Amino acid sequence: MDLLPVLVVHGGAGTVPRERSEQSVSGVRSAARAGYAILRGGGSSMDAVVEAVAHMEDNPSYNAGCGSVLNVKGEIEMDAIVMDGKALGSGAVSAVRNVANPVRLARLVMDKVVFYPPCGQCFAQEMGISEVPPESLVTEYSRMRWKKNLEPGANPVESQMGKMGTVGAVAVDREGNVACATSTGGMLNKMEGRVGDTPCIGSGGYADNQVGAVSTTGHGEVIMKVTLARLILFHMEQGDTKEASDMGLAYMKSRVDGLGGVVTVGPQGNWAARFSSLQMAWAAAQKDSLHYGLYAGEHFTQSIDDPH
Ligand code: ASP
Repeated sequence: MDLLPVLVVHGGAGTVPRERSEQSVSGVRSAARAGYAILRGGGSSMDAVVEAVAHMEDNPSYNAGCGSVLNVKGEIEMDAIVMDGKALGSGAVSAVRNVANPVRLARLVMDKVVFYPPCGQCFAQEMGISEVPPESLVTEYSRMRWKKNLEPGANPVESQMGKMGTVGAVAVDREGNVACATSTGGMLNKMEGRVGDTPCIGSGGYADNQVGAVSTTGHGEVIMKVTLARLILFHMEQGDTKEASDMGLAYMKSRVDGLGGVVTVGPQGNWAARFSSLQMAWAAAQKDSLHYGLYAGEHFTQSIDDPH
């Protein structure tokens, strides 16, 4: 059966507060549509995942781009990765402050960087990526959460597990090329300069045409211990996308007590959106259908052309 092409996105593993759940689900649905339009038009999986992730970075409902959580000093520092399964090329940025779409910068790193430039910001300027004032990426909600987590006794990791919002996408195009992209503001009230799992190859994402592609979300320090994306692809060499995703997440839970979520595609167009957290907004576009959900076991389907 010909399943190609497909695009799957996530809006972060955790617990989405009731008042934000609708925005979170409608955001992943529109990002999936935006990325899938590229695949439908014959575009590449890399173009599609970057478009879908940039769409969510522009949406203040998520912890990526505009809406990112703040570090302990109350500043934005964002991480992103892209990986292309054909040549195993990748690009990543970490702790970038004044670009609206870190995922586009990560893509440029993959496409253009031969030797590492002195700093991400200089590279952005060289590539003609316009700077935005970091303040323009800070929302009232992220400032409120930052302040709350400065209070004595606050536990930012626990609080973040409650409300995440990292974004990611995986896709397979008509040629059977797979790609992944992930973007995040990181962990709430993180140390200045922290580099999380997202920009680390094999942790925040991995893509290999021979096996598939994965984008991950969850507590980065824990994801890195099990290199979650690569672990899932290892299981995919033996099994299907859902089983492999569940096995990777189950190992992370039993071995290091970590919760998280993933979106996964196989090179034939099989896909999965799986999580061990209470919720993860996700959406998948394939053929004429848009699939989406928020809670474990939830799976709604509508026509891809239905605007609602
Ligand atoms: N993995 C991200 C980080 O630790 C956070 C998340 O996925 O919500 O930076």
